[in-house]
Amino acid sequence: MKRVIMIKYGELTTKKGNRNFFVNSLYTSISNKLKNYNITISKDLSRMYIEFEEKNLEVILKKINKIFGIHKYNVAYKINSSIDEIKNSVLDIIKKENFYTFKVETKRSDKSFPIESTEFSKQIGGLILKNKNNIKVDVHKPDLLLNIEIRKDFTYIYTNDYFGLGGYPNNTLGKAILMLSGGIDSPVAAYLAIKRGIHIEAVYFEAIPHTSLEARNKVINLCKKLSIYTNNIKLHIVPFTKLQEEIYKKVDQNYVITIMRRMMYRITEKIAQKRNAEAIINGESVGQVASQTLTSMKVINSVTNLPVIRPVSCFDKLEIINIAKKIDTYNISILPYEDCCTIFVPKHPVINPNINFCIEMEKNIDYESLIKDILSNIETITITENNETEFKDLL
Ligand code: ATP
Ligand code: MG
Repeated sequence: MKRVIMIKYGELTTKKGNRNFFVNSLYTSISNKLKNYNITISKDLSRMYIEFEEKNLEVILKKINKIFGIHKYNVAYKINSSIDEIKNSVLDIIKKENFYTFKVETKRSDKSFPIESTEFSKQIGGLILKNKNNIKVDVHKPDLLLNIEIRKDFTYIYTNDYFGLGGYPNNTLGKAILMLSGGIDSPVAAYLAIKRGIHIEAVYFEAIPHTSLEARNKVINLCKKLSIYTNNIKLHIVPFTKLQEEIYKKVDQNYVITIMRRMMYRITEKIAQKRNAEAIINGESVGQVASQTLTSMKVINSVTNLPVIRPVSCFDKLEIINIAKKIDTYNISILPYEDCCTIFVPKHPVINPNINFCIEMEKNIDYESLIKDILSNIETITITENNETEFKDLL
């Protein structure tokens, strides 16, 4: 008997007006992800069906588990919608299953099928009871739930539904620039943003020689992990050293981090404009450090009008760590290479910065021309799961 993977869209079905757009995007994600496995995909209003070669099933399911926009899926037997064929197939299927209690559920979307759903479930239940010993029906908590979906051309029979990752398909809700450090929080923020269908390009502020190439590699490796959920990720490496050194020379020590972060936001906003992105995403979490009090966030945020999305803003560190472990970024993030935020950390970073004081101090730095210079020296790399390619056409 032939099997197919049946994909259920879930949350996508609430998007009435642009449902086709979401379904087509999911179709693109699945075909990209499974392009090496000789599959055929077909779709209707509520389902997508993937025909596959049996030998590839295990690896295909692993990939399916990393695709956003899939709510539930199952592996279904695909047969003709004839009563005899359905009955024979059910008998074959239950031979392979181990269970004590069971329930049959029929959905008949083809109303020309001559038997009504409840009646057909009863008949199939009777057939199963006759053909297997020591089993009984349990409609509340059966060991085996046998689903029969009768459609016009074909009938699909399956036992288990598996949960997919949920969320929206890649690239369905616009583009944003992610501030990606080597820490634990920002890769998790990235994952959660990708889950909402946001296409991300990452920005990494680098301060060589104060930070090392190992720190850069860490960020590249984090992008590789994240690109499992997208097709690829563009990483913009920002040469931040000169501006950072200026800040340390010209600014009150306690304000160094606040001003540095205002500069990061300014640069990220410029990159967003050039890349046609509509928002900034970062890994800030309320209260985590001095620059993440509400007052600090307000003062830092005021340099940009772009929406700043902070997916982990209200998570505890432990909650963030749990996700980081699940997406396999944690072990990379905890490697001990210093980031530009961790060098020269002041003893008493201000937790209630005064915005006017920031503006006054910033007058001591010719930051506009420094930022211009930075923007023309950005290095952009496109990173995929397995390799990275140097990208000549800079911003
Ligand atoms: P940790 O997990 O150690 O908190 P972090 O990456 O969250 O690491 P923070 O100092 O809390 O580090 O920075 C807050 C956010 O600012 C980061 O999540 C990230 O989005 C952004 N950020 C910090 N440093 C950089 C950097 N060097 N390049 C790009 N973004 C950065
Ligand atoms: Mg943090």
